[in-house]
Amino acid sequence: MSLNYILRAKKFKAKKSLGQNFLIDEKIIDFISSNAKKDDEILEIGPGLGFVTEQLIENSSKVVALEIDRDAINILNKNLGDKENFHLIEQDILKTNINDLPFTKDKIKVIANIPYYITSPILVHLLGEIDELSHKNRSRISEIILMVQLEVANRIVANENSQNKEYGQLSILSQMYCDVEIIKKVPKNCFSPAPKVDSALVKFTINEKPKVEITRLLKRTVKAIFMARRKNVKNSLLNAGFIEVEKALENTGIDKMTRGEKLSLEKIQQLSVALEEFN
Ligand code: SAM
Repeated sequence: MSLNYILRAKKFKAKKSLGQNFLIDEKIIDFISSNAKKDDEILEIGPGLGFVTEQLIENSSKVVALEIDRDAINILNKNLGDKENFHLIEQDILKTNINDLPFTKDKIKVIANIPYYITSPILVHLLGEIDELSHKNRSRISEIILMVQLEVANRIVANENSQNKEYGQLSILSQMYCDVEIIKKVPKNCFSPAPKVDSALVKFTINEKPKVEITRLLKRTVKAIFMARRKNVKNSLLNAGFIEVEKALENTGIDKMTRGEKLSLEKIQQLSVALEEFN
């Protein structure tokens, strides 16, 4: 831990309601910032006291940071306001269209130690829904480095072979347009104040094309399958109002007693195609 960061974090009255847990571990701060390269333009969500921001500014060609806490903004302006390649904007990420930000490159990188209480909304906001072939924010991003709770990170990278019911809608949302990978586990004592649980950094590499072809019923099928986890796939689909479910399962070669969480994205997509014949 770096004393410099610890002291600066302790001097500030962190707001729980804004998910403020500041990184104070030099090695982790270095590791995150090393993802920004010389020619990169970076969107940082929630710069807080600027510990990561300071290095992003050094490493990249431009940093646009969105923060909603006026106290943090005052500190950031005081410490970093004179940096030419730094643009601090008082704005909620969830109300932001990346195309409206002062970027010049076609593709930007997002780096964010985010407030955990809005993890899923942020992901949907950046990536779009699974059946949105083109999405205004996703189409501007090449890569996202995101700090999330470890348990959420495990759900993001899970697949049908994962244990512990980690595979679900968040896995599909994350993997439909991205390759995802946990690049570092981050213990809770790397933050001040320390959160209750450990965290992890996840890297999302965004692809131009979705992993499977989008179908009319894909989103509805995914939702139905993962909604009722304890039910088998037949009952989950019936429950969600689909008809001729047995026929569709038969046509796809899926055992009706299988649980949805054992189906790969490819299989779910095939099932959605089969369901389209009757629904
Ligand atoms: N990046 C800093 C760090 O690593 O030490 C701070 C991380 S802290 C977990 C999350 C930051 O996001 C806080 O500074 C908080 O004020 C800010 N924040 C909370 N909600 C936000 C929102 N909707 N849009 C932008 N920033 C937000």
